[in-house]
Order: sequence, then C-alpha cells, then structure tokens
Amino acid sequence: MTAQVSYERVRERLEQLKLKAALLNPDDILEKGQKKDRLTIEILDELLECEIADRFERKLRTNHRVSGIPANKRLEDFDYAAQPQVPEKIIRELATLRFVANGENVIFLGPPGVGKTHLTIGLALKVLETGKRVYFQTLHDMITKARELQQRNRLANFQGLLLRPDVLVLDELGFLPLTATDATFFFEVVNKRYQAGKSIIITSNKGFSDWGQIFADETLAVAILDRLLHHATTINIRGESYRLKSRREAGLIKT
Ligand code: ADP
Ligand code: MG
Repeated sequence: MTAQVSYERVRERLEQLKLKAALLNPDDILEKGQKKDRLTIEILDELLECEIADRFERKLRTNHRVSGIPANKRLEDFDYAAQPQVPEKIIRELATLRFVANGENVIFLGPPGVGKTHLTIGLALKVLETGKRVYFQTLHDMITKARELQQRNRLANFQGLLLRPDVLVLDELGFLPLTATDATFFFEVVNKRYQAGKSIIITSNKGFSDWGQIFADETLAVAILDRLLHHATTINIRGESYRLKSRREAGLIKT
C-alpha cells in the first residue's frame, strides 16, 4: 500500500469512527511530529489526546446548555467586602467541590438581593467545569412542572430526571406556598437524592423555622429538613441587598 493510500484510509477511518477533532488535525500533528522527530507512538498519543480534549469541551458546552443556569455569575466576581456576612473561606471551601464528591448539600438563606443566587450559580459553574452535570431551576418551576406532569401521569419520569444531575439546584424556596401534594413531591426528590448521595443546593428567603408554613405540614417539613441538613453547609446571609446598597452609596436613594 502506498503512503498516500494509507493516508486516505486513515482519514476515512477517522471519519467512520467519528473522531472529528482528530480528523481536523492529523496533518498538523503528523508534520509537527515528523519535524520534532517524535516516535510514532507519541504522534498517535497526541492525535488521541486532541480528540479526547475536544470531546470534553463539547460535553462541557452541552452540559452548560441543558443545565438551565440562568445567568453568568462567577464566584470570582463576588464582592465579599460588600457582603461581609458571606464567609469567604467557606465559599472557597465549597468551590473545591468536595461537597459534591461527598453528596453534601448547600443552603443559602437570606433576604432578597444578598447574593444567594449569584453564589449558587458561581458554584454551579465550577461543578460544570469538572464535567459534572447540574440542573438548575427555581422551586416554583419544579413544582409547576410536577403539577402539570402529574395530570398526565408522567410524574415518575420527572422524578428520575431530577435524580440524574450531580448537583440539583432549587432556587427561591419560600416564595410560593406549597400544597400537601407539592410538599410530598419535594420530599420525595430530597429523599431520593439523599439516598443516592447526591447534592442539592437550595436558596431561600425564609429561615428554617418558617419552613413548616411553606410545606403546609410541620411533620413533612421536619422530615425534609432532617434529610437536607444531615450533611449540609448552611450559609445565612443577613445583610442588605447588594443593588440597594450600591444605589444608596451612589447617592441615588436615601436612608
Ligand atoms: P438573591 O438571590 O439573594 O436574591 P442575587 O444573587 O440575585 O440575590 O443578587 C442580586 C444581584 O446583585 C445580582 O445581579 C448579583 O450578581 C448581585 N450581587 C449580589 N451580591 C453581590 C456581591 N457581594 N458582589 C457582587 N455582586 C453581587
Ligand atoms: Mg435569588
């Protein structure tokens, strides 16, 4: 077989095997390898590495697209000086993602505007960077979807879907009063993920003592909190809304 035929065959094979990145780069890699007098095995290694890296990139992009993360808020952009109630050291500890590896939960409590969602998104983006999966939604969206699917007898599928991501984010717990059916569904989600050792991040404007009211049932609230808090980091932010504070400091509003 001539070298040219081999070359054509290799291209064809790469295409058949859907090694897209390797197919884009073989000439580069071959030429560079020859110039540098690399071993055949080293050249092969580089070609495969380029395919693997490209696949990982694509996976990250897909995971990001389907995650439902609503904005680009990075932990690096969080201004700790403006919100001294947020313990930077604990956030940095969380950013190591040990909590994900250990299936622990994170709960941000505090009034509107103090950065709960920002920090949650920041952590979620870190999780995505490692190739893990995140599913971000407001509690309101989850419950609305659950109500809808229950009517079509498809609730079990949704339960399964909520069990899949490495981190499930439920934003804004406490804005919407839940019925007993909603609360039971929520308990199921929390309990299944607890049993599977998978993390949940929750933000809420209500303290734990008010959760009984949100869930319409004190006993259910206790059961939910019991699972959630068994392995959890709670960050209670009592500060002032970041936007209000900036506007006040800019002299746009009084008091
Ligand atoms: P919450 O979820 O607690 O209601 P958000 O996280 O949505 O608050 O914060 C409201 C807005 O203020 C967002 O645009 C967020 O990026 C910004 N923000 C809040 N706190 C900070 C902070 N300490 N540093 C930088 N931006 C902040
Ligand atoms: Mg929020």
